[in-house]
Amino acid sequence: MQNKVSLTSRYMAAVRAIEHQRPDRLFSDPLAEKLAGAEIIAEIAPRAQEYEDRGRPVVAVRTRFFDDFLMSSASSIRQVVILGAGMDTRAFRLPWHPDTYLYEIDQPDVIQLKESLLDSTPAICHRQVIPIDLRESWSEKLLQKGFETKSPSIWLLEGVLYYLTKTDACDLLKTITDLSTDGSFLGADVLNEKMQKSDNGLAKYWLFGFDEPEKLFASFGWQADVVQFGDDTANFGRFKYKFPPREVLDIARGFLVTARKKG
Ligand code: SAM
Repeated sequence: MQNKVSLTSRYMAAVRAIEHQRPDRLFSDPLAEKLAGAEIIAEIAPRAQEYEDRGRPVVAVRTRFFDDFLMSSASSIRQVVILGAGMDTRAFRLPWHPDTYLYEIDQPDVIQLKESLLDSTPAICHRQVIPIDLRESWSEKLLQKGFETKSPSIWLLEGVLYYLTKTDACDLLKTITDLSTDGSFLGADVLNEKMQKSDNGLAKYWLFGFDEPEKLFASFGWQADVVQFGDDTANFGRFKYKFPPREVLDIARGFLVTARKKG
């Protein structure tokens, strides 16, 4: 995998593989080790430990946060779309209703590698993959695979929105909105501007930061709840670092967003 943005999918799987080995793990992800590969796990392990030592296990907390969000929204909804899915294994490891259709969209090189590594592992629900760049027109492909615009849906943008420019991110949100009935749900993580412009290892690939996610999602018709890592609902006893209040703009931070399309 040559493209560094594509490679981030395996970095995330590596962190989940490491989390899976912990006695106090926040979730179980038995396929993550295979999807990340031993070499990438070895490369990522010191960094993951550093984040843990600083009380900031971002990826583990984010994964668990969105696991819980998906499960709480999925009680009556049977279609889920994971955009920039990377090596996400939720189709294989969460207790979906068997009638659930789960669509994974990512770049063709990521999907190709993932499918070869999974080697026909059976999913718990109906899993469909759509290999396409999210900046292209993907909605037609989603509809062809069976997505129904008249039924409510759940959307997940985990670790992906900031790899797009603001224009591309807004186009994506507009497309999602057009495909969603009222009562649909959306989960996303958003970086603030300070974080996007930081010198974190991957920051040079981050193109979009926003300080007020509530306003961003409201502009597309979604009522958003926004929390920070470390808040009561987003620490799971592991994210011990406490961010200063949001009004303090000069702090690099990320937000966890759960939203409902207003009716
Ligand atoms: N959501 C996964 C997770 O949390 O493990 C993957 C996150 S990874 C940091 C970012 C993912 O976004 C990669 O799989 C990458 O290929 C995908 N991505 C970034 N830009 C994309 C684009 N323009 N079209 C499709 N996928 C994209």
